[in-house]
Amino acid sequence: MKVITVPLAYTNCYLIQAAQGWILVDAGRQSVAKLFQRQLGKLGIDSTDIKLIIITHAHFDHVGSLAQIKDLCGCPVLAHPLEARIIEAGEVVIPPGTNWLGNMVSWVGKRSTRMLGFAKTTVEITADDEYDLTPFGVAGKIIPTPGHTPGSISVLLEDGQALVGDLAMNMVFRSHIPIFAEEPSQISSSWEMLINKGATVFYPAHGRRLPISKLRGIKDSGSV
Ligand SMILES: [Zn+2]
Ligand SMILES: [Zn+2]
Repeated sequence: MKVITVPLAYTNCYLIQAAQGWILVDAGRQSVAKLFQRQLGKLGIDSTDIKLIIITHAHFDHVGSLAQIKDLCGCPVLAHPLEARIIEAGEVVIPPGTNWLGNMVSWVGKRSTRMLGFAKTTVEITADDEYDLTPFGVAGKIIPTPGHTPGSISVLLEDGQALVGDLAMNMVFRSHIPIFAEEPSQISSSWEMLINKGATVFYPAHGRRLPISKLRGIKDSGSV
């Protein structure tokens, strides 16, 4: 199944090809709607070809431009109900760190929440359990994968590609545990659940694609 990475500042969004059109996963930080439009133009995709926006979780770097991008696409938004509440309130949530870098950024973030505000948006579809994407023309489903946030979800495609939001990261650290997590003890069980359900490669929102072979053996280490 075709998955295209759309880098928006420091957050990757992903486009999944559907039977008719595309599904967008995540919507970047604030002020990236124009960049998103340019990226779509380069790909030869019209924003109205996007039929659904899935939000993996409600952090500002994933929903900052959601209101504007949703206007461009004119399509519904799907999220876990716990995250939908935050999106609809326009609330900035800064999670605790899981290592020294995360702790530092979290400390700064908690003192900058006013700067990180984003426009409220309505979430039309909520999913707190597995949710089949076949009606949207995609062979895959949404799986709740708590850990980074309680309402984090992943998109697992039938061919093993998994779009995991911030459940895993692939940046400077050898560990792929996200540098922030509200429920760090659940990260490795969510990884395992996705793998048991057939995931072979993770697409994190921060960093490059991550074959699951890279996750094995380090899943119990809670920090780097
Ligand atoms: Zn996050
Ligand atoms: Zn993020």
